[in-house]
Amino acid sequence: MNAIISNTGYCCTCDNYVTFSSHNEWLRDHYICENCRSIPRERALFYCIEKFYPNWAELAIHESSPANRGASFKLKNNCKNYQATQFFPHLPLGWCDSNGWKNENLENQTFPDESFDLVITQDVMEHVFDPAKAFGEIARTLKSGGAHIFTVPLVNKNQPSQTCAVQSGGETLYLKEPEYHGNPISEQGSLVVTNWGYDICDFIFKNSGLYTFMVYTHDVSLGIEAEYIEVLISRKI
Ligand SMILES: [Zn+2]
Repeated sequence: MNAIISNTGYCCTCDNYVTFSSHNEWLRDHYICENCRSIPRERALFYCIEKFYPNWAELAIHESSPANRGASFKLKNNCKNYQATQFFPHLPLGWCDSNGWKNENLENQTFPDESFDLVITQDVMEHVFDPAKAFGEIARTLKSGGAHIFTVPLVNKNQPSQTCAVQSGGETLYLKEPEYHGNPISEQGSLVVTNWGYDICDFIFKNSGLYTFMVYTHDVSLGIEAEYIEVLISRKI
């Protein structure tokens, strides 16, 4: 099958001149770097990290729910003070496993106030049941001058954000047909809880006091071309 798109360019997750290609029209999940297998949102994320925080490798970074490739590998391999976390509800919070992952609930973290310069999440915030608490905790654990840099599919664009599911008394109530995204630590995948729109910036400010700007990059020479490619940067001032 012929590729839908194939071009050479510079990959900012593996720092090489590479070929980017996709055999599927849905570039967001399929337009890969043939060297490191990263997808466009990871390259957009790293483009922003390097542009706005060029000293990132020297900083204290928390990444929640890292991927097993691309941007997460680059952070893990180059950052002197990098803490990855996953959430295993049946295990004690703060417990550290053999991968170096700490068990943390993004909505109720064990980290002290002002622990990190940067918090990174990649397509996580659409799966969190209490995003107000999660953004609040991210703000609490950021140092002054720090930032939450993240991707999240803003599928509702300029329409209001929409809650798709809620939790009540340990039960999940579905407000619309359940949708799941791939999750490296769960075969079932992750339930989509919120269809976010651009009003996410107002939601974050209201619930955490962080100021958010969005960066939209469209540059095939960097392999950054896809739907929902915005990177959000929420700053603690
Ligand atoms: Zn690459």
